[in-house]
Amino acid sequence: MDLAIKNGKVFNGIEVLGKTNIYVENGKIAKITNENLNANVEIDAKDMFVMPGLIDAHIHLSGIKGGSLLKIMFEKPEYRVLKASKWLEKLLISGFTTVRDCGEIVSLALKRAVNEGIIKGPKIIAAGKPITQTFGHGELSHDVPLEFSMSLSFSEFCDGVESCIHAARKVLRDGSDFIKIFATGGVLSQRDKPENPQLSFEEIRATVNEAEKVNTYVAAHAHGDKGARIAIEAGIKTLEHGTLLRDETLKLMVQKNVTLTPTLTIQELIYKYGKQIGVDEWGLQKINTVRESISNVVKKAKEYGVTIIAGTDLGFETGLEDIDIGKNWMEAILLVERGGLTPLEALRASTYNASLAIGSNSGLIDTGKDADIIIINGDPSENIKDIAKTISVIKDGKIVVENKKLL
Ligand SMILES: [Zn+2]
Repeated sequence: MDLAIKNGKVFNGIEVLGKTNIYVENGKIAKITNENLNANVEIDAKDMFVMPGLIDAHIHLSGIKGGSLLKIMFEKPEYRVLKASKWLEKLLISGFTTVRDCGEIVSLALKRAVNEGIIKGPKIIAAGKPITQTFGHGELSHDVPLEFSMSLSFSEFCDGVESCIHAARKVLRDGSDFIKIFATGGVLSQRDKPENPQLSFEEIRATVNEAEKVNTYVAAHAHGDKGARIAIEAGIKTLEHGTLLRDETLKLMVQKNVTLTPTLTIQELIYKYGKQIGVDEWGLQKINTVRESISNVVKKAKEYGVTIIAGTDLGFETGLEDIDIGKNWMEAILLVERGGLTPLEALRASTYNASLAIGSNSGLIDTGKDADIIIINGDPSENIKDIAKTISVIKDGKIVVENKKLL
């Protein structure tokens, strides 16, 4: 065996197995057993908690600082990608071995650089450019001239079925792993409201069809119930935010096997610190309603059996003590504190459930899975706040973080 992690209290992504040993060979988990076998490298995890590497299923690796997203239009991608590469190191140190970028062109280059070993970071599952309608959430500002918005915005535009087919194919051609669409207005875009539906059933259906042809799926940003429902009926697989969902829509999600990423972190951030970090005025005005509502939506989602996955929606550095890039475990804490999940449910949302939803081969400690494992000096299954106490990180069977230091 290449690597052994011995004597730790193991959570496999679904349940706590208790004290056992994990053996790794060729980057994969080879054996989980109480037997004491030899390995080239051995880690003694006595009194430690051992679990799959954390997954942030909704992030934007934009490389900007401060809460005004308009900077995405005004900072050059070459610069943003360099900044975001530093974010990746922080994410890895904090225990994240996989992130899903839900819309950001620079994430495609970052993904390639991580895969080729040029930079250090978690595995990236990337949407590339998200798809927006004209006068949609993906425009951020609706006051700038449309031509300006189309050329500098972070989104791909589509209006009408033909146009959506073309946009979907362009995004997939760029190398995207899945397609992200905006199915309602949002908080951080200027003049659209979270409750406004965006894109039609036909437009979304056509986009889903293009994704399915290459064996992938569509993730939909949706706050309002009406737009969310249209997107779910059109065949999307992961619903992002879902802040204003009604009970019937949550039940439909269970039927159609659509997951919910409540993104509590971004809402908490804008609610508590929006003004301080420079969120545009329109964002501050829209945050209260969605933040107020989501807490109840998560509790209902849990009751009906919707699969909940952890995603922060962090898209900029804040410089704050509690909510910032590299502290993305905040989502699990908020799922417990504001969403009413048990610590174990929040850990599942951050590992196995997220991996199933986003199409990742980690997130579960089982034979044949990628050996993406973290060691925590604490017990987050008892106290969720201990999820912030990662000391070592193993990615693809190699120790990449030891005693909180990047190797
Ligand atoms: Zn987002």
